[in-house]
Amino acid sequence: MTEAPEVVRIPILPFGLVNAHLVVGATGAVLVDAGLPDTERAVEKALQSRGMSWHDIRLIVVTHAHIDHAGNAARLRALTGAPVCAHEGDAQHYRQREHMTFCATGTFG
Ligand SMILES: [Zn+2]
Repeated sequence: MTEAPEVVRIPILPFGLVNAHLVVGATGAVLVDAGLPDTERAVEKALQSRGMSWHDIRLIVVTHAHIDHAGNAARLRALTGAPVCAHEGDAQHYRQREHMTFCATGTFG
């Protein structure tokens, strides 16, 4: 029997303003959203809390091209070696032809 994956919330900003999520399965994890630039320590802490390291992330899914979801994707790709999956409709943002904007996803967002 296969166990259901565990979803670990990763606080990127305090008070639940911005979060990423780690979906942990038996053979690795999927990171859903990459957080703001320079917030990789929050992801690393979540990995360490489950006895995992950067290379246990098999895939990074970026839900949309706001900086609080996608801003650290390139850095996390370099740290993990995992591919980044995103919607092609946001490609102009990822190619830096259009600026990213910001949204908050928590209680106050
Ligand atoms: Zn957003």
